[in-house]
Amino acid sequence: MSKRDPSQDWRKVRQAVFARDRDRCLNCRASEETVTMLDADHGVPRGVGGADKISNLNTLCRRCHKAKH
Ligand SMILES: [Zn+2]
Repeated sequence: MSKRDPSQDWRKVRQAVFARDRDRCLNCRASEETVTMLDADHGVPRGVGGADKISNLNTLCRRCHKAKH
């Protein structure tokens, strides 16, 4: 189990992911104006070694994120 790097600011990583994806859900293309909340979803889950890195994260709205898990 990998520990989260304490020097990393998760909020900043999230914001960078949202900026890269232009604040839109990659699944349904909803923006933060049409959905209440965007989430950063791990492409590879942390439980199986996925990193809290921009390259491993995708912007999903709360609805799509819930549907996925
Ligand atoms: Zn969505």
